[in-house]
Parts: sequence; C-alpha cells; structure tokens
Amino acid sequence: MQTENKIHRKVLVVDDEIVNRRLLGFIVSRDYDVLYAENGIQALEEIKSHADTLSLILLDLLMPEMDGYELLDILTHDEELRRIPVIVLTSEKSAEVQALQHGAVDFIPKPYDLPEVILARVQRSIQLAEDNILIHENERDTLTGLYTKGFFFQYARQHDKYYPDIPMDAVTININRFHLVNELHGRAYGDNILQSVAALIQEFAKNTGGLACRCDSDQFDFYLPHVENPAAVIQEFSEKFRKMTNPTKITVRIGIYQNADSGIEIEERFDRANIACSHLRNSYQTAFALYDTQLHEKELYHEKLITEMDKALSEKQFQVYYQPKYDITGNTPVLTSAEALIRWIHPQDGMISPGVFISLFERNGLIQKLDRFVWKEAAAQIRLWKEKYQKTIPVSVNVSRIDIYDPMLKQELDEILENNQLTASELLLEITESAYTENSRQIIETVSRLRESGFRIEMDDFGSGYSSLNMLTALPIDALKLDMQFVRRMTEDSKAFKMVELILDIAKFLNVPVVAEGVETEEQYQLLKKAGCEIIQGYYFSRPVPAEEFEKLIQKEESTC
Ligand code: C2E
Ligand code: CA
Ligand code: CA
Repeated sequence: MQTENKIHRKVLVVDDEIVNRRLLGFIVSRDYDVLYAENGIQALEEIKSHADTLSLILLDLLMPEMDGYELLDILTHDEELRRIPVIVLTSEKSAEVQALQHGAVDFIPKPYDLPEVILARVQRSIQLAEDNILIHENERDTLTGLYTKGFFFQYARQHDKYYPDIPMDAVTININRFHLVNELHGRAYGDNILQSVAALIQEFAKNTGGLACRCDSDQFDFYLPHVENPAAVIQEFSEKFRKMTNPTKITVRIGIYQNADSGIEIEERFDRANIACSHLRNSYQTAFALYDTQLHEKELYHEKLITEMDKALSEKQFQVYYQPKYDITGNTPVLTSAEALIRWIHPQDGMISPGVFISLFERNGLIQKLDRFVWKEAAAQIRLWKEKYQKTIPVSVNVSRIDIYDPMLKQELDEILENNQLTASELLLEITESAYTENSRQIIETVSRLRESGFRIEMDDFGSGYSSLNMLTALPIDALKLDMQFVRRMTEDSKAFKMVELILDIAKFLNVPVVAEGVETEEQYQLLKKAGCEIIQGYYFSRPVPAEEFEKLIQKEESTC
C-alpha cells in the first residue's frame, strides 16, 4: 500500500548541474515521480503548475538566475506554496543553518550519501508535512474556522497549565430552533447564521484572550477569563447578532459556569454550562443561565438517585401504586381498570415522586429496568385479584419511549403474561403521544405488532404533542388519554373546553374511548360526562394508592353490584 502511494507522489529536483540532477533523480525515482528544473525561475514555474500535487522539493542553493535562498523566500511567503517541504542540497556546512532559517525542513550534504539515506530523509519530510496538514485540517471546523471540539479541550487544558491563576468561565451557546432555520430558509442560510455566531465569538475570544469551538452542529463552547457582569456582555452580543440576522429573529441561549473549578475535568466544566443552558427553554429572546449551587445540588441529587437505583430495587424501596379508572357512561361510575404508577419510598428521603426520577432514568436508560419491574408487579397483581375476585381488573402500565426501540419488548411482555397466566388484553400499555411524534414509523411498526398479538394500547398525554390528524387515523391505538392540562384549564378557559370537545369528536371518529386524567372536582367530572367522555381517572375518585388500599375500592364495587 505504502509503495503504491509513493509512486504517485511528485518530487521536484532543482539543480543547475546536470550530473547532480541525473544522480539525485535516479535515486529518488525509485519511489517517486520526478520533475526537474535547472534554476529558481524554472523551478517556480514547475512548482506553480504542480502546486496541488507536489510533495517535496530538493533544492540546490547555488544556481544562476535565481538561487535557492531567493526561491525559499518566495515559497515561505506564499499561502499556498508554503505547505511544500523543501530539502536543500549543499556542500557547505555554514549554508545549512542559513537554509533552515529560510524555511527549509532539512538538508542533504554533497557529495551524496547512500541512496537509502536520501530516500529515508525524503520520505520523512513528506510524512511530517502531510501529518502537519492533517493536524491543521482537524484542528479547525471547516465551516466556521473555530477549533474543533477535541483540539478545543486540549488547548483549554494547556491554558489551565500555563495560567493556573486566571479564573475562567465555561460558556456554552446554543442557537434556538436551529433545525427550523434550516428548514425555513435553506441550508446555505443556516450555514451563514453559524458563521455569524462564530465570527462574533471569535472576535470576542480575540479581545478577551479566550478560546472557542463549534462542538455540535448548532452549539458553541467558549472558554474565557472570568467576566464579572455577563448580562452586559450578552446584551452587546445579542444586539450585534440581531443586526446580523435581521429580520429572522434568531436567538441564542447561553449557559455559563462561572469561575469554573479547575479541579474537575474540562469536559465536565462544560457539562455544567450545558446543564445551566438546558434549563432555558427555546425562547424568542436571547437568554442566559448561570450554573449555581442549586443546580449543583440538583445534579448531585440526581447522581445519588442513579447510583442508588439498583440497590433500591433489590431492597424493595420501589412500590407500585394503583389509580382507578372509572367508566362514567352509566348512571353510576363503574371501576373498569387501573393505572400502575411507580413510587420510590426512600429510607431517608421519604416518598420520591416519579416526576423527579422518570425523565432522569429515561435519559440514561435505567428506566427500562424500572419499567420491567413495574410490569411484573402489575401482572402479578392482576393475577392475584383475578384469583381472589374471580374477575380481571386490567391494569395499564407505562411504556417508555426507549422500551419501544428494544427488539425484545414483545418477547419480554409475552413472558410476563405467561408467568402469570394472563392474556394480552389484561395488561394495558400506555405510550405517551410525544413518543409517537418522535419516530412515528418505528412506533407504528412496534405498536402494530403488539396489537396483532392482542395488546391494547392507550395513547397517553394526548394533546400535549403534535400528532397531526392525518397521522392519528393511521395510528394503531385503542384509547386516547386526554392530557391533564385540558382538564385543568377546561373550567376557566373556553378554548381549552373546545379542545376537549374536539378531541372527543376525533376519538368518536376513530372509534376509540377517551380517558380523562387529572379530574379533581365535581364540576370537571360533570362537564366531561356531558361532553361524552367515557372514562375518568383522577383524585376525584382516588389518588394512586398501594395495592391493599386499591382492594378496598374493588370490594366497595363488589358490594354495590
Ligand atoms: P402519567 O402517565 O401521565 O400519569 C398520571 C399522573 O397524574 C400520575 O402522576 C398521577 O398520580 C397524576 N394524577 C392522577 N390524577 C390526578 C389528579 O386528579 N390531579 C393531579 N394533580 N394529578 C393526578 P405520577 O404518579 O406522579 O407520575 C408522573 C408521571 O411519571 C406519569 O405521568 C408517567 O409519565 C411517569 N411514570 C409513573 N410511573 C411510571 C412507570 O412505572 N414507568 C414509566 N415509564 N413512567 C412512569
Ligand atoms: Ca400514564
Ligand atoms: Ca398521562
């Protein structure tokens, strides 16, 4: 492979003496394509016409017309040509240093050494020059000219080493809704925006002695000496940015970890800036957030929960609670099913709500383990009640978006059913609407397969996402769970109530029942009943409760039948 490469590399031999040209050319032509020139002027012509492909120049110093030094000077001052390494040929010891000072990379003394020595020097110089180009290419992001992520972190570490006493801020800058910018205005415009942000950051970096990189498509990291009043600086930044991007009203969000602790890894310092940034929503204004002790405590707490999860599972700190769903189509509400909701009863911290840990565990995949635990518990509970009360109370379990991508999902659910001698229709599956909009094709495939084997699927939090009506008709679902926010706003806000009516209409059209969640008051209950909602879940009937308490609801139902 290597010799093959060498054959195509070009080397220019420049010497006014024909014997020298022949001799060198003969040696070098073993591994390279050789070009020849008799003096500096001829050489320059050859170099220019092979500027892209020439790998090395072997240059005699003493020549008529234009000597080697003059040529070296021209080359080193030319943006494009200075990349070509030059080895000088000389019989004078004193000329060697002078040639190196003029930009030569190496020298070969006359009379010539063994051919192998010459070839080795040629090869090494070419290799070094090419490595150098490669490094330079990888060092900078081609679109913006900022550092690439890897080099940025490396230089930031170096900076810390040289200037350990300068307090630094780690800053991360994200463009809001950048994917929309690309979609609405085209990629070229999007690139333009990225270049504008980069130019502003670069200017700032220059003035403050900071470093910056583009670390992701629309995200920039910036490491700079501590700024006392970031609000003023950001104000200036966003005004300049607004002028550049008018009239598109593109904004950025900025996370800042001030006086970044140099005792922790540089990547982690930027993670903290990112944590601060992630607390800012995509807004229509440029906004910034500082990483502070509160965020830090939250981060530590999350870390603690992650570390403790396994132990908590084995120590049975997790408990499944059940919240009833009532059919309200008749005169009196009838208990139809339940939703299984996880609770963490922590030995020190007390009851931790799923709102605290579900999204955390979703981000790192731990949710899968937890979900399987809930499914197993729920299935065993259905079985138990079935034996005790001679009827099935179907329980719905939440299926996280990551579960959907698990190729083993159906098999695992089947196993759970089999172990508890249940059929698929007894364990209901809730999938949140936003999962459908994220990757609708995959979801539709997975859900269709589950339904084919008898599972029933409820679309959770319906109305909070953006599923289009078109998509809805194509979706394989068995019930819509109306998002709680509509129920909450419905009594005060007529628009919210209209939305509820609309969703009920859609559901009728799709021929699926609607479950209204979060129903707390008589008023909400009556309104929903009148609008034609079939099933209700909420504090109005019962909070989620432990299995033993849920049994009391079953018993009450039994006694009224
Ligand atoms: P969700 O699936 O939408 O569950 C309904 C949430 O509404 C539950 O909150 C429930 O306690 C609460 N809720 C029910 N009725 C009322 C009411 O009348 N008023 C109010 N204010 N709230 C009501 P919870 O148990 O805190 O769970 C929050 C979310 O955590 C759930 O939302 C679900 O997305 C997730 N979650 C809970 N358990 C699990 C689980 O085992 N696996 C997965 N993947 N997610 C779970
Ligand atoms: Ca749910
Ligand atoms: Ca829900």
